[in-house]
Amino acid sequence: MKRIGQYTKPTVLFVDMNSFFASCEQQVNFYLRDRPVAVCVYTGKQGCVIAPSVEAKRLGVKLGMRLDEAMQLCPGLVPVEINSKRYREFHVAIIDVLRQFTPDVFPKSIDEAVVDLTRCQLMYKDVWQVALQIKSDIRTKVGDWLRCSIGIAPNAFLAKLGSDLHKPDGLVMITPETIDDVLKDLHLTDLPGIGQRMAKRLQDQGILTPLNLRYASPERLRAVCKSIIGWHWHLRLNFGGEVDLETSAYKSMQAMRTVSASQRQSPEQLDELLQSLCLTLERRMMKQDVFCQEVTFSCRYHDSRNYGDEIKLPEPRQDGMELYNLIRQRFERFQHVNRCEPILNRSIRSMSVSVFRFIPAQLVPFSLFEDNTRKNTLRKAVYEVKAKFGSDKLMRATELRDNPVFRDVIGFGSIKDLHDDQNPF
Ligand SMILES: [Mg+2]
Repeated sequence: MKRIGQYTKPTVLFVDMNSFFASCEQQVNFYLRDRPVAVCVYTGKQGCVIAPSVEAKRLGVKLGMRLDEAMQLCPGLVPVEINSKRYREFHVAIIDVLRQFTPDVFPKSIDEAVVDLTRCQLMYKDVWQVALQIKSDIRTKVGDWLRCSIGIAPNAFLAKLGSDLHKPDGLVMITPETIDDVLKDLHLTDLPGIGQRMAKRLQDQGILTPLNLRYASPERLRAVCKSIIGWHWHLRLNFGGEVDLETSAYKSMQAMRTVSASQRQSPEQLDELLQSLCLTLERRMMKQDVFCQEVTFSCRYHDSRNYGDEIKLPEPRQDGMELYNLIRQRFERFQHVNRCEPILNRSIRSMSVSVFRFIPAQLVPFSLFEDNTRKNTLRKAVYEVKAKFGSDKLMRATELRDNPVFRDVIGFGSIKDLHDDQNPF
């Protein structure tokens, strides 16, 4: 649910851990502190820097650089292989600290979270002090080497913008009094969610700067963006409420179909129907940017019998075909063990698949093996392509799994750049 309506109190904090992966490495290994460190997927020559430390950034090492180039630029650089489990553990510990301030904590990625104090205003008179306390609690309760930049603003978008302005260890508040001063020095692409494409579209219509964007009429923005997204930009920059925080997250999603008389006659069609239900859920989970940890499958038959199965997934999933295969394996085993007629038989009346226990997609790569991370990133990319070009062709992520182009994007959050025009996070 979105909170729309004039709202000018700076009660939303955006916490962004600085050089998170490298700082975690420096936290656990004292000898890496104060040195330029580069976290890499592989530490071979062709390895790719996915997270430089603060020190390495100062020396010009950038995310995405090849390790041999980075070493040439910065001979003292210490390459370290990525340790996803470690970062996930630090993430969990940091979120625990944030939850001690309010239950309204929304993790946005492995190293970012929104802390919404809007409902806790009676408890906290001074939000600035809360931000300082968060910084100090992270240092004392999680790790003394960990630093974060915090933005404070009346909505999550402006809070994120604030957190981007001063790194490392920044603290910036954006209010109606200060916003124009903040925006006047920025380019359109400095705004989270505005990529090159969107910037060009705005510029073509005469909206050249963030200040132009703030003062353009909502009707004009709607026309330029050709969608409600324009209206959202107006609200974000004019304190019109919260459009970026999902306050009532989905608890479950269901896809259900009544089986027609003709479908019932053919096992292939029943099978396709089950596949299409799973793919529908895949699309919805993609849209909400979540993975599920539990799936149920049920069938009802004309003689009022039922079949139902509940599957707790060993690891979070989003892929429709994977869900389909799991469901199939389970009922095939059921048929075999019970020597019963096929579950997908001629007296079937309806079938339904539901998914539950969601977790944000951004957190998933870090609980999985790299192979899955790539697949998930790819699935996302496939959807982006389809959304962009309106292709109705259904490409399976598995067919594209080995495309090297996507390989290097693992683990440093650039999956969010893939949907830059829709969602600033
Ligand atoms: Mg960060």
